[in-house]
Amino acid sequence: MTRMPAAFVGHGTPMNALDHNRYTQAWSDFSASLPATPRAVLVVSAHWYVNVTAVTAMVAPRTIHDFYGFPQALFDVRYPAPGDPEIAVRVADVVKPTWVGLDHDGWGIDHGTWSVLVHMFPRADVPVLQLSLNADMPFDWHFDLGARLAALRDEGVLIVGSGNVVHNLRLIDWQRPGEGTDWAQRFDDSVREVMTDDPAGLGASLSHPDFRLAAPTPDHFLPLAYLAGLASRDGSRAQVIVDGYEMGSLSMTAYALTS
Ligand code: ZN
Repeated sequence: MTRMPAAFVGHGTPMNALDHNRYTQAWSDFSASLPATPRAVLVVSAHWYVNVTAVTAMVAPRTIHDFYGFPQALFDVRYPAPGDPEIAVRVADVVKPTWVGLDHDGWGIDHGTWSVLVHMFPRADVPVLQLSLNADMPFDWHFDLGARLAALRDEGVLIVGSGNVVHNLRLIDWQRPGEGTDWAQRFDDSVREVMTDDPAGLGASLSHPDFRLAAPTPDHFLPLAYLAGLASRDGSRAQVIVDGYEMGSLSMTAYALTS
């Protein structure tokens, strides 16, 4: 089986689910460029940040609307992709000895996942699984876990990290659509240098002077650790598939790993 690419997507605001813009176009172009239809998509979403490592293992995961204050149209979105309990067992298998719980009725498909997948796989016909982000664990642990998922790429599973390299909601400036502050750009540029040259070195970004502003909470940055971990497995480099800033303190940069 052809090795499946992998990606990290800056998902931004949930409204991207309904919008068509250059970010959503890039996500859709990425899926169109895949060598084959994936057997499943395994998403590490910023929005399943909990005190346990788990993978969704239900046959029909529910669509979760984990936000408030958005138009009704967004709450009406359903992403009825099936799950795949067999692949969930396989995920738990490849990351051993790390224990991964099989989630049969807790989570589902959150907006970090569906706001992107409605563009990548609009027919919702590819099975979707989510892997939680264990909030108790440090960066290196997530990086290593990502590396251990590599075997799944050879089994036709598309692995997608969904977060934002720069994500500071406290400093959102609605008057700055399409713009990033100086510190946001400095941090995003620095991460881009690492990801496109030597992703195995991503851990050094945690001591970048702008890291605390860029990632005041780890949830949106950590999904990138999984792509860096995957890249580290065979010394490959990531490519930027789209970039940009929104509202001063969000980076929309997305990366793909094609080798
Ligand atoms: Zn988010």
